[in-house]
Amino acid sequence: MALHVVGNVCVDDTFYVDRLPRPGETVNAVASARGVGGKGANQAVAAARSGAEVVFRAALGADADAGFVRAALAGELPLDGLAVLDTPTDRSTILVDRTGENIVVTAAASAMAFDPAGFPVRPGRGDYLLMQGNLRADVTGACLKRAKDRGAVTLLNPSPLGSTALPTADVVIVNAVEAEALAGCTDPAEAAHRLSRDGAASVVVTLGAEGALLLERGEPRLLPAPRVVAVDTSGAGDVFAGVLSGCLARGLPLFDAVAIGVRAAAVAVTRRGTLAACPSRPEIAGLIN
Ligand code: ADP
Repeated sequence: MALHVVGNVCVDDTFYVDRLPRPGETVNAVASARGVGGKGANQAVAAARSGAEVVFRAALGADADAGFVRAALAGELPLDGLAVLDTPTDRSTILVDRTGENIVVTAAASAMAFDPAGFPVRPGRGDYLLMQGNLRADVTGACLKRAKDRGAVTLLNPSPLGSTALPTADVVIVNAVEAEALAGCTDPAEAAHRLSRDGAASVVVTLGAEGALLLERGEPRLLPAPRVVAVDTSGAGDVFAGVLSGCLARGLPLFDAVAIGVRAAAVAVTRRGTLAACPSRPEIAGLIN
């Protein structure tokens, strides 16, 4: 069954600096890199590398940055679900210092204007829908509801958190900070119970080096992460959500999908970058078998 990933895509310009500039100050970068990012695109690529049939829906502008995005994603995903809007393609400028501390500024006009309601290919019975928190909250809520009404399984990773009102989804995936913000308590199992009472059938709370907690049918289970030397944890959550959703769409039970997501994300943190750190198709296949 197909996994529809509906969200955002952007061009990331990353500047590596010795230290972050103060207001009014200019600093020279030690290195810079341009790549494709956005939680929607990151999770869609991770899902596709898990072997799922992925339909990716996001919005671009009609500009040169859109061409860069298409070229970068061409070998990874079918691109016929990309809408072209009368807005600039979304862009992020990311500053990273020697300690890994970062500052991110995003221009998100395309994501904010995007409403996939009229798109002809929609998740139906037996399909899966994965969304994030980058689109307007009303659009996200409406897409999840439509898909649910048509018989699809819905997954939501509500990051970045725009509000604490969570739309209903079958599986909600949050990190520990988001779980606390949404549920108002620091204990992940208690937070998961509270979120499931608020409308999520199953809840996954990622716990960094500790792995992830899965609450399914009222039963919490901890899936520990393998011990690794983490060098860059940015994008780990996207690898986790994408691989989990991809495995689910391939027919694996949720528990197994979470376990593979934990292991794939643990590989990603041992490498620099976001998409660049995502395990390859053969690597994820090795984790599934
Ligand atoms: P986010 O990146 O969204 O803040 P987490 O920090 O919880 O989310 O990480 C997501 C997943 O990445 C974890 O569930 C785990 O599988 C993996 N991970 C993150 N940090 C580490 C680490 N230090 N060692 C091993 N795995 C890690």
